[in-house]
Amino acid sequence: MSGSDDRAVVIGGGLAGVTAALELADAGLKVTLLEGRPRLGGLAFSFKRGELTVDNGQHVYLRCCTAYRWFLDRVEGAHLAPVQDRLDVPVLDVAHPAGPRLGRLRRSALPVPLHLAGSLARYPHLSLAERASVGRAALALRRLDPADPALDGVDFATWLGRQGQSPRTIEALWDLVGIATLNATAGHASLGLAATVFKTGLLSENGAADIGWATVPLGDLHDTLARKQLDSAGVRTELRTRVTGVSRTPEGNWRVDTEGESLDAAAVVLAVPQREAHALLPPGALADPDKLLDIGTAPILNVHVVYDRKVLKRPFFAALGSPVQWVFDRTDSSGLPDGGQYLALSQSAAQDDIDEPVSVLRAKYLPELERLLPAARGAKVRDFFVTRERTATFAPTPGVGRLRPGARTDTPGLYLAGAWTATGWPATMEGAVRSGLSAAHAALTALGRHRKHPLQEAA
Ligand SMILES: Cc1cc2nc3c(=O)[nH]c(=O)nc-3n(C[C@H](O)[C@H](O)[C@H](O)COP(=O)(O)OP(=O)(O)OC[C@H]3O[C@@H](n4cnc5c(N)ncnc54)[C@H](O)[C@@H]3O)c2cc1C
Repeated sequence: MSGSDDRAVVIGGGLAGVTAALELADAGLKVTLLEGRPRLGGLAFSFKRGELTVDNGQHVYLRCCTAYRWFLDRVEGAHLAPVQDRLDVPVLDVAHPAGPRLGRLRRSALPVPLHLAGSLARYPHLSLAERASVGRAALALRRLDPADPALDGVDFATWLGRQGQSPRTIEALWDLVGIATLNATAGHASLGLAATVFKTGLLSENGAADIGWATVPLGDLHDTLARKQLDSAGVRTELRTRVTGVSRTPEGNWRVDTEGESLDAAAVVLAVPQREAHALLPPGALADPDKLLDIGTAPILNVHVVYDRKVLKRPFFAALGSPVQWVFDRTDSSGLPDGGQYLALSQSAAQDDIDEPVSVLRAKYLPELERLLPAARGAKVRDFFVTRERTATFAPTPGVGRLRPGARTDTPGLYLAGAWTATGWPATMEGAVRSGLSAAHAALTALGRHRKHPLQEAA
């Protein structure tokens, strides 16, 4: 046995890499986690702006996200990102001819699919006929198998059209949820990924779509708490450490090169975005590595506005008839000190806005907020800024499924993780954690170390 037989190196400290490192360490391996940036958390992080702690983008999850919930438990942070008792999404339509109208997407305690029937029957943003058509589409959705490869080649809008969904129904219901979860409108989303989101979220269990979000900065969960658990699990975590090469040693182990040192290990998990993975993959690791470069990316923009007073009573709402998509109250979680209110607008599929100057975005979004929130009309804007994530997610376009590799490569001992790998989920925290667990368990199986998969315990 060589000295590296019980060693593993995880490259990339996003949710996928942190998960893989924890799981490998919990199975008794000596794990080193290498992250290029000065913090853990990857695409879901926080930074300071004066007195505020700002998330790079509002993140939510659903009760059905069993892997991310496992992660929250594992880092002892579940109480800091609670799930609402019952799904309740206020939806404000400002384009209605009779003036702004508030509707709600809520669930009852009834079993699936009746749990949403009452709310749908009262949803004011659709006509009676449109509401009835949604019920029929939901039943058809229930019969789909998201893992069926045939679904991946079809776009969600075409399928919705075949189920009698009008453009208004797509806009006011399917896209309202779909843009935020898929980061694409129905016309640009794979039916397979949409089916995963809607079937698991809306039709698997009564409370599956209840929404959870962090009441603290994301960095508290994904960096501070994660680091604490990594340390106590014995993981050596090196930040500001960019990996420059991954190669095979003459003994059949793996060598990971950074600018400062080289590490040998029996197992390596490459948990970096797809382009970086492509650059680091050794020859022969995948039959067609260039497929990774065909996986597109999609942007998310967050618009941050600090008012001098409270302008929104609810914790969040979604908008219709406005370029504004979802608005969250970040006042408490950001530590805003004195009587004002901090709102974050989460703008998915933001291709049109992502490169606009702040002045243009300000001129676009402040009047919209005044239209949506009467109390904003007399309020003073203390601060306005934006965060841009140009490659926030992989683009969930039809056909993307055949481009996403699984955790195992063709070279034993080298594994892939990341929200972009073949998890069946769109690019989410859930997908990232699932991928980290898959990679860790593939490695453990190959090393002959058996450990129960945590999602089997949760099931
Ligand atoms: C604005 C925004 C909003 C979002 N909203 C939601 C949401 O509401 N709900 C949800 O579930 N998901 C959401 N997501 C998606 C979610 O954040 C991601 O899918 C998830 O965090 C991806 O995790 P990951 O570990 O797969 O990848 P990443 O977070 O990209 O982690 C990869 C890590 O690898 C590191 N790295 C890269 N190259 C190297 C190298 N050579 N050496 C060492 N390290 C390297 C990077 O620095 C990075 O830390 C959102 C994303 C964004 C950006």
